[in-house]
Amino acid sequence: QKKIGVLALQGAVREHIHQIEQLGHIAIPIKRVEQLNDIDGLVLPGGESTTMRRLLDEYDFTTSLRQSELPMYGTCAGLILLAKSVQDREDYHIGKLDIHVERNAFGRQIDSFETMLNVTGIDHQVEAIFIRAPIIKSVEQHVEVLSTVDDNIVAVKQGKYLGVSFHPELSNDLSMMKYFIEQTID
Ligand code: GLN
Repeated sequence: QKKIGVLALQGAVREHIHQIEQLGHIAIPIKRVEQLNDIDGLVLPGGESTTMRRLLDEYDFTTSLRQSELPMYGTCAGLILLAKSVQDREDYHIGKLDIHVERNAFGRQIDSFETMLNVTGIDHQVEAIFIRAPIIKSVEQHVEVLSTVDDNIVAVKQGKYLGVSFHPELSNDLSMMKYFIEQTID
């Protein structure tokens, strides 16, 4: 049984907590920096990345998370927080994944959509809900691409960091969270 933290400043926190508990692990909403010392991995939820960044700064998380060695899993806005390079920004937020992302990249007409995805390492198609989702425009060589939609990269893994453009926590399929806990954490 692992202790998985969910950054609880903004966004879809409860859904991730629920998935962690359904898999039989301990879920901890993270609201203070000190709590990072007591978990095995951290989930960064979807929401709005610029708002989340403001709250990260306000609650003194930014430097601690940049320096942290914790395994991390980011969904949607959480993926943007993990990217080393974000379109139209000079700095990164937490900066763990060697990828370049563009926000809201699927365009207005297809603001939100749902599809079934093949994901490397998962033995069935995963229900993927995209909401003003980012696209991973490029990855460095050592980053593993796990899934694409029409040639757009939407899921990656780099060592102990996992990032997806969509919201696995909004579906009933636990396999992405299971993949994080079982295949990404040591
Ligand atoms: N568009 C949001 C952002 O740029 C992400 C959307 C989401 O997390 N569903 O932060």
